[in-house]
Amino acid sequence: MSGYNPEVTTLKPSVAEHRVPLPERDPAVWAAIQGETRRQESNLELIASENIASLAVRQAMGSVMTDKYAEGYPGRRYYGGCEFVDQVERLAIDRLKQVYGAEFANVQPHSGAQANMAVYHAFLKPGDRLMGLSLADGGHLTHGSPVAFSGQMYEIVSYGLREDETIDYDGLRKLAEESRPKLIVSGASAYSRVIDFEFIGQVAKEVGALHMCDMAHYSGLIAGGQYPNPVPHADFVTSTTHKSLRGPRGGIILYNKEEYDKDIRMSVFPGIQGGPLMHVIAAKAVAFGEALQPEFREYARQVKANAQALADALTAEGFRIVSGGTDSHLMLVDLRSFQVTGKVAQETLERANITTNRNAIPNDPEKPFVTSGIRLGTPAVTTRGMKEPEMAKIASLIADALRSREDEGKLASVKESVVELCQAHPIHLD
Ligand code: PLP
Repeated sequence: MSGYNPEVTTLKPSVAEHRVPLPERDPAVWAAIQGETRRQESNLELIASENIASLAVRQAMGSVMTDKYAEGYPGRRYYGGCEFVDQVERLAIDRLKQVYGAEFANVQPHSGAQANMAVYHAFLKPGDRLMGLSLADGGHLTHGSPVAFSGQMYEIVSYGLREDETIDYDGLRKLAEESRPKLIVSGASAYSRVIDFEFIGQVAKEVGALHMCDMAHYSGLIAGGQYPNPVPHADFVTSTTHKSLRGPRGGIILYNKEEYDKDIRMSVFPGIQGGPLMHVIAAKAVAFGEALQPEFREYARQVKANAQALADALTAEGFRIVSGGTDSHLMLVDLRSFQVTGKVAQETLERANITTNRNAIPNDPEKPFVTSGIRLGTPAVTTRGMKEPEMAKIASLIADALRSREDEGKLASVKESVVELCQAHPIHLD
């Protein structure tokens, strides 16, 4: 006899196997996940593009929504059985529109790079002119770098920084007037100051270009009212969802004009993607719901206050902060006064359980793989509940570690202090 028998309470072997929990089913993968869990708990996460997603976000991501094919959009799918994925995608869209005050939202891009690619693919032809902040001055690979699709498919003109290490707005206008790009990108990956989205939107209008703001880095601050909202000033706003916004890894696109709707939708699917990641979209819905809570405003305020406190304390320790400070969650630290490269600093700090990434500073004399700077950000440590006093402590631990990079004993004692600080602000990831 085969088939389902309600009298028999034990599961058929194949079904039972399907329900074996991960630690038993795949100890090797489980061990790596446990390792990452302990690493996150006992390290100071200062990578500006990272955060610690909530349990609710992670639960949605680990849900059965991963099983579902749902090509198309809510109410217009190419597959059956989409009732509940439609519910969750509609929730994500409605909440996202509310967070940023936008008329239209697409929550399907698998990543920030794909959100940008979808906008370019919708409105540019290969060889069209695209203008963005150069990678060396803080732009992203997708803003026109020659090593990425953006720099290979389109003709690139890049704007840069002034001597004071802030965006050269006059230069940007001049370049736009001379080169008449089809699309101007605002936004950055390693720029700590407020970006004048309104000005860039105005220049784009004057030269007949589209304006796309990539707010990936700042989207959490914007959601919390701590950084200017680009939505009123850009034709399209793209973002990742996993940085300061504290959601799952993914991308989004916002826009206000109905005339763009069909092209954006068609560009994301079927243009550049197949089936949407419905488990990630469910987790995006949770994260956008979190971003609408009053606590998120307080979180964003503290992220910024912490970044300012960290920048001040690092300055007092003798570091130079690029452009003299920060108006956001991140800062670029010029390490030259400590006679250390970005690469050595990143490696040294990692030995002391402080996670950072090396980053070129403006006019960096070192190669991109080495650099003279590190980029630091406060979203993750703020999620752990750290405040200004902890930022002062972190600055002194960074300075101690870099000063004593040849002294294993001293580095070990910095690491001990870092672990103590982490234990005092537990994150409880299990
Ligand atoms: N745009 C900006 C400004 C970024 O900083 C990043 C990632 O660092 C991206 C896009 C790409 O995002 P993803 O890694 O999700 O493709």
